[in-house]
Amino acid sequence: MKFSCPNCKSKIEIQKTFNKKMHVSCSSCGIEDLLEFSKNYDEVFLEFLSRFDDGLVTKNGISENLKEEGIVRDENEIKKMIGENHPDSITETILFSKKDYISQYKILKHPEPKMGCKVSEMGLDDGITKYLKKSNINQFYKFQEEAINEIIFGENVIIEAPTASGKTEAFVIPVIQKIQNTAESGNVFAVFVYPTKALARDQYPKIQNLAEKIGVTVNVFDGDTNQTERRDILENPPHILVTNFDVIHYHLWHQTKFSSLLNTVKILVVDEAHVYSGIFGSNVHYIIKRLKRICSSKIQFIAASATLEDAKEFCEKLFDAKMKIIHGSGKKGQTDFVMLFPSLRTQRSLMVDLTKKLTEKNHKTMVFSNSHLNSELLAIQAKKQKVNIKVHRAGLMANYRKSVEKEFKGDLLQAISCTPTLELGIDVGNVDGVISSTIPVNRLIQRIGRAAR
Ligand SMILES: [Zn+2]
Repeated sequence: MKFSCPNCKSKIEIQKTFNKKMHVSCSSCGIEDLLEFSKNYDEVFLEFLSRFDDGLVTKNGISENLKEEGIVRDENEIKKMIGENHPDSITETILFSKKDYISQYKILKHPEPKMGCKVSEMGLDDGITKYLKKSNINQFYKFQEEAINEIIFGENVIIEAPTASGKTEAFVIPVIQKIQNTAESGNVFAVFVYPTKALARDQYPKIQNLAEKIGVTVNVFDGDTNQTERRDILENPPHILVTNFDVIHYHLWHQTKFSSLLNTVKILVVDEAHVYSGIFGSNVHYIIKRLKRICSSKIQFIAASATLEDAKEFCEKLFDAKMKIIHGSGKKGQTDFVMLFPSLRTQRSLMVDLTKKLTEKNHKTMVFSNSHLNSELLAIQAKKQKVNIKVHRAGLMANYRKSVEKEFKGDLLQAISCTPTLELGIDVGNVDGVISSTIPVNRLIQRIGRAAR
């Protein structure tokens, strides 16, 4: 039976609360009410309608009531829990949703990455140094210092570091410094490859900001580059081209004018290199081989990657070259930890809702349930909400589980619904969010550890 809202005609939700009352609400217009318990939902709905007619139901009119009953917390109480901290915006919506009782909110701070030398001691061009100082960067991380030195020296380098750890600066700075030292204008000196157009366009301003400070030119060349821009690039090649492997492959194959721009390439940067596994990876391997063949001089390779167990072996195969690996430790930032008690809905609907909230904002999420059945049911309900999720649990075929791990690691899957089999040691790459049903604390810490590393 579907109940429709007397105010806006949307669907009315009726939920049993933890203290045996009935919560009636409309998620569209926000009216809600708290009624006495009854097994008969029709009865509850009729009671709700008559209260609505009597003007006793108003928008968020019962929040006071919910607070008194201990069903949700007072906003001021939540603000006190947050204190001086700055929760992520997703965390903030969860904390103030008034859909659940907030049992606890905490911030887990990550250890700061190891620091390296001062920016001014690096011997970089004044333009770069000044720009970094202006952006409040006075000191490099150790891994950035190492990467800058090795790249300027000419080594093939893999920079393995978590997302948002300063990876991009670690390769952009030495590349533009090299360009300034040695490059002639009118030739493409470096090609930066990203797995998708969106990612390339996302990183482009960051690269350009640094490069333009010392007169190094950058352009994006991909499927969205229009005719005029293409002509400009061909007539006036930039020092750095930002593109993807599909574009490179197409032009090399058809030997277009654009492909002749690639003859002068001295550095190939492949960001997010961990995505090039499987068939995709072997295609890329051959594209790189072709590129090597048409280039007049030896190419220096730089790969940047999220944490990979076998990054060195992986990249040496991909580039068919000896590589030096540099590890960026730690992630700058924090993990928000929220403990919720589903006082107005079932645990599963809370977990599905959280999964949706996180994946909508592109957070790769692991959802832990305590039984095989629950992990399956959660995935079914999340899929109905258009979440890109798959189940990973014991009892499934080993090669299926492997494929799920791989898709997740390669960013082809937003979420996995799993049982405790995934707690230990399985490498699924970077994780942004962990949702877990109630479990003993020591195991919870292990799960949280995944998001924190
Ligand atoms: Zn309504």
